[in-house]
Amino acid sequence: MSTPVLLRHPSSLDHDTGSHPESPRRIVAIERALEQRDWLGFDVRLSEPAQRASIEALHPARHIDRIEALCARGGGMIDMDTIVSPGSCVAAHHAAGGAVQMVDALLADERAGIAASLHRPPGHHAEAERAMGFCLLNNVAIAAQHALDACGAQRVMIFDWDVHHGNGTNALFAQRDDVLFCSIHQSPLYPGTGPASDVGSGAGEGYTVNLPVPGGSGDAVWCSLAEHVVAPLGRAYRPDLLLLSAGYDAHADDPLAGCEVSDDGYRAMAASVRALAGELAIPLGIVLEGGYDLGALSRCVTLTLETAGDAEPPAAPEVAVHPLAEQAATRLAESYWPALAGD
Ligand SMILES: [Zn+2]
Repeated sequence: MSTPVLLRHPSSLDHDTGSHPESPRRIVAIERALEQRDWLGFDVRLSEPAQRASIEALHPARHIDRIEALCARGGGMIDMDTIVSPGSCVAAHHAAGGAVQMVDALLADERAGIAASLHRPPGHHAEAERAMGFCLLNNVAIAAQHALDACGAQRVMIFDWDVHHGNGTNALFAQRDDVLFCSIHQSPLYPGTGPASDVGSGAGEGYTVNLPVPGGSGDAVWCSLAEHVVAPLGRAYRPDLLLLSAGYDAHADDPLAGCEVSDDGYRAMAASVRALAGELAIPLGIVLEGGYDLGALSRCVTLTLETAGDAEPPAAPEVAVHPLAEQAATRLAESYWPALAGD
């Protein structure tokens, strides 16, 4: 396998949110932890800002213009949670551009097997015309669209393990079958979307897979869903690219949510994802989303990159089948994904 690639940019520190959990300190903590490990052997590169055309493939020009205008006026609140400062526009363009460049490294340029884009602001709550939930542009969705438009991918799978439902990504691809969106998220919780009954619509019916879990869910639930539902879905869908919307706010230490995933749980989920990519012989791209306890965030990003970047793909982890995973697999097998029967 060629050297894994990591995209970053100092503009991530210029998105000034004041006393907000989604703060520049998140990137500082992650980069300090990775630096102490010599970046785990990743080839570290500065991201370019996204081309306007890459963003406009999913977000209308007026959405980008509105954010640019707000930045130019000195910033302000978009909603109760979402803040824009003078540096946010450049930061958001690099966050999207890093994800696009990650896809180029995976599919177009040197065909790196593994790459990561570690920027802020995060992206998975951003809808086509609506910034929300700390997110301005939907970085992982822009990356998926770029893979389809410019890199010859026919099918892309996005696995979102952030504790919040990725409503933006869900909405952007709800009516399409060329992107399989699969999310594990705590419910009820912000933003209140993502019931199991939301399966997409039209040509996309069945290609949105929502796996809500109750507050208090820990490794037994999350790792079982990753290994016994998400991985079999990937085997059935056979994507050309696997993208991970990697949030770390399902961690037991996270202040914003109520799940109980441990460091070992993130390591196991990362092993499931990496093993799936290895089995399908497809590249894996990791895009940072949330995660607000700086210790848990920096440790678990490190564990994810360590597990993903290992030259020898890990074996799929030994994870017991939790009843919630069994129910989800049965439901999917009976509806859109017969291959999940008895997995
Ligand atoms: Zn989140």
